[in-house]
Amino acid sequence: MTPTAPQVIRRLLFILLFIGFTAGIIFYFAIPDKPKAPWDGNPESSLLRLMEGNARFVKGEMRHQGESVERRTALSSEQKPFAVIVSCSDSRVPPELVFDQGLGDLFVIRTAGNLVDSVALGSIEYAVKHLGVKLIVVMGHENCGVIKAFLVKEPEHDYIDKLVDIMSNEPEQVAALTAPGDRIDNCVRANIKHITTLLKTCEPVLMEKYKSGELKITSARYDLDKGTVEITE
Ligand SMILES: [Zn+2]
Repeated sequence: MTPTAPQVIRRLLFILLFIGFTAGIIFYFAIPDKPKAPWDGNPESSLLRLMEGNARFVKGEMRHQGESVERRTALSSEQKPFAVIVSCSDSRVPPELVFDQGLGDLFVIRTAGNLVDSVALGSIEYAVKHLGVKLIVVMGHENCGVIKAFLVKEPEHDYIDKLVDIMSNEPEQVAALTAPGDRIDNCVRANIKHITTLLKTCEPVLMEKYKSGELKITSARYDLDKGTVEITE
């Protein structure tokens, strides 16, 4: 029996819908590193954005987004970074590369051993209070030179001693000295734990926003060989 015109149209529509649906599925799974959820500005969403960037970095599939002349020009009058990263000055740990982020995305504080003093605290407070950042990541890394200096503890009678002194006053670091396992790695983890706690209890700006849930403060460890960032807290 010859199909009627409406039947032909219905069949054609069905075939088109089927092709469209199948193409959509194939396209969705073919895109590498598609965002799991759109970034909505909240702390968890910001952390996900960082970790997706790190996944691209690990695979060597960086997008290098946010480096254009247009982006640079657009940012000249205002910045709206979505995360503060407190990391080591070590040349192998640049947050913008490790998280594959562009101009205006990250507010970065870098000191040897990712240590935080009053100047660093003021910088972090500024980002949270005036730029509206809702996520802070304290990132230590494998094989940190300052941690090694702390473990050797040979006075050099210079400002490097100051770094070691600060670490020597961290209760978590002292406890890590006698813990089982890898001494350097134990101290790296103890150091970021100490600094994360310091930020969570830093009055008035950080503690208030952290307690209200408006601000997330977390710690991470960067692996030099693999390029991976592990969230430790
Ligand atoms: Zn370091």
